[in-house]
Amino acid sequence: MSAEGHISITGVSKYFGRHKALDDVSLEIPPGSVTVILGPSGSGKSTLLRAINHLERVDEGFIQIDGDYIGYRRQGDRLYELKEKAILKQRINVGYVFQNFNLFPHLTVLENLIEAPVAHKRLSRRAAVEQAYALLDVVGLRDKADAWSRHLSGGQQQRIAIARALALRPRVILFDEPTSALDPELVGEVLDVIKKLARSGTTLVVVTHEIGFAREVADQVVFMVDGKVVEQGSGDELLNHPRHPRTRQFLSKVL
Ligand code: ADP
Ligand code: MG
Repeated sequence: MSAEGHISITGVSKYFGRHKALDDVSLEIPPGSVTVILGPSGSGKSTLLRAINHLERVDEGFIQIDGDYIGYRRQGDRLYELKEKAILKQRINVGYVFQNFNLFPHLTVLENLIEAPVAHKRLSRRAAVEQAYALLDVVGLRDKADAWSRHLSGGQQQRIAIARALALRPRVILFDEPTSALDPELVGEVLDVIKKLARSGTTLVVVTHEIGFAREVADQVVFMVDGKVVEQGSGDELLNHPRHPRTRQFLSKVL
């Protein structure tokens, strides 16, 4: 298991106007682990993922990855926001997979996988092409290298989006409801790719309503309501023996 990708969230709160979208969230996500975040719509799941990448700046508390303050540097007792360039550099360590794939529609599959590592000067073009084919093998889509991404099925597009997230060799990958835009028959192929990554040493944080997936893969399950973590534990603890009434109520609806 990799020693990289330890996420530490300490007392994080986030307001949108007067609405508290995150309310004093603290969470430890060990390196190489799989954390599944559950919770009703509007409970702050996406906001928490976005905060981990500093796509949302938090109002209180802080988030660290492997000891680095995300979006900030510490000087004495105070945190100062980093400059855009330093934030972008941190973001390279954190892959993001969205509900709606967000591939570049005007690029082929191969070009989608080459763009970021070349743009960030991580790899030469030749090395990036080689890596792209290796990533296509990981997601089982080598034969689609030259296809236009918009011509792929939703499940295939999401598998390419996962390969693209891997292309920068992140320590952490955040998945925000990666299968909720898919037709039911395409969900399994995407979850299978995520399961494969679960054993790779990359830290995964997955917002999903797929309880079976959580049960099978999660090292830790976190349940959120109204911006708060109300319960967390192993898959067995949280899914089979939930203690909090809100967790029980939620599970009775989705199971
Ligand atoms: P979830 O992903 O669990 O459905 P979100 O994190 O998207 O929840 O949203 C949490 C709360 O914050 C919701 O009440 C939502 O309406 C609000 N919210 C999220 N993003 C914004 C924003 N950019 N501006 C204002 N309110 C927002
Ligand atoms: Mg959301």
